[in-house]
Amino acid sequence: MSIVPEAERPNPYSAYGAHGSVLVLNSGSSSLKYQLVNPVGGEAIAAGTVERIGEPSGIVTHTFAGNRTRRELEVPDHGEALRLALGMFDEIGPRLADAGIYAVGHRVVHGGAEFSGPVVVDDAIIDRIEALVPLAPLHNPANVQGIRVARELLGDVPHVAVFDTAFFQGLPPAAYTYAIDREVATEHGVRRYGFHGTSHQYVAGKVARVLGRRVQDLNTIVLHLGNGASASAVRGGVPVDTSMGLTPLEGLVMGTRSGDVDPGVLFHLARNAGLGVDELDTLLNKRSGVLGLSGVNDFRELRSLIDAGDEDAQLAFDVYIHRLRKYVGAYAALLGRVDVIAFTAGVGENDVDVRAAVCADLEGLGIAVDPERNAQRGGERIVSPDWAQTLVMVIPTMEELAIARQCVEAVDHLEPPRAVTAG
Ligand code: ADP
Repeated sequence: MSIVPEAERPNPYSAYGAHGSVLVLNSGSSSLKYQLVNPVGGEAIAAGTVERIGEPSGIVTHTFAGNRTRRELEVPDHGEALRLALGMFDEIGPRLADAGIYAVGHRVVHGGAEFSGPVVVDDAIIDRIEALVPLAPLHNPANVQGIRVARELLGDVPHVAVFDTAFFQGLPPAAYTYAIDREVATEHGVRRYGFHGTSHQYVAGKVARVLGRRVQDLNTIVLHLGNGASASAVRGGVPVDTSMGLTPLEGLVMGTRSGDVDPGVLFHLARNAGLGVDELDTLLNKRSGVLGLSGVNDFRELRSLIDAGDEDAQLAFDVYIHRLRKYVGAYAALLGRVDVIAFTAGVGENDVDVRAAVCADLEGLGIAVDPERNAQRGGERIVSPDWAQTLVMVIPTMEELAIARQCVEAVDHLEPPRAVTAG
């Protein structure tokens, strides 16, 4: 299999017709990220962030036509954040009236067991997203707030909620069920939901598209390695398993999150270190992972420390890789045949050493990385040698674009294009 040049790839999204642009919003607890996207061509027309919402000095950045504007000013709440962002469009461009916004897409972290695809937002949908707050107390409140504010300020276009969990609603029960008391689990919604679904779905589809194959014919392991990190096994476009669970804490070692630990660690620390629930939450979510082991969470800094002989940094890297290799092995067993391992997100796309270490000494499984190919930079690419049975690929994720396309599908009731070469 080889890469089909971009110009020769059919664009199944051209069937969308002329739709103008989609404004994609990602509301975090103290930040708002936005991007104006062309859902057909795929390009980001403009993008920006409002950071430190609620703090005395907020930061607004806006990038349009290659120019980045940065402002420091107080941003008391999400309403003001969005007003400022809309002001940037007016002042710096492009003017939203000219860009013709077709829909506003909202990234929502937790869709529970209710949402398996994007939905056009109305009051009842907001209530349902709010009802899921107990499952995602750190994320869903900000998402709901972002939707409310955006509907007030941009009332004349449809708003669509796109859930991070939606793709993984396709997991089989054996993968999403925790082996704990069924009644307790059912009453409290305790099961695996998976996260980063938009990215995993996009990357699995993109792999097929760049290879000129149908997604239905490929078994792919997607490794989304950003600050948060997750793995998935995808058979024929349908998820078979993923590493994140009830919350985005399970699974891989991450920038600041522990990933898998024996749940007994929590009981032990509660009993012997006197840590309460919130302290344990902070420990595993914010003070663990690569940061907890090495003192840094950025892989560029980790590499500098390792090169300088820092043993803690080396151990952090080794633990990170060990966990990843366990998941690759487990997912190979679940899939039976692995056609592609796709690396994506900040670390996956950029860190040559991580890719090499994950795939080292796996020739017996038909998996290898070619050092020269792996060292090259660029967009979608194959980094495995020609003889390897499994293609190792780098696929830049484009979550905003994927959200924008799902918005168009939700508003127009379109089926997502899946038949890749035919479509
Ligand atoms: P998220 O969306 O989860 O915040 P990203 O996908 O943007 O994260 O990934 C951010 C991380 O990617 C950084 O913390 C850093 O560890 C890593 N990263 C970014 N650029 C590079 C690079 N050139 N080399 C190695 N790691 C990188």
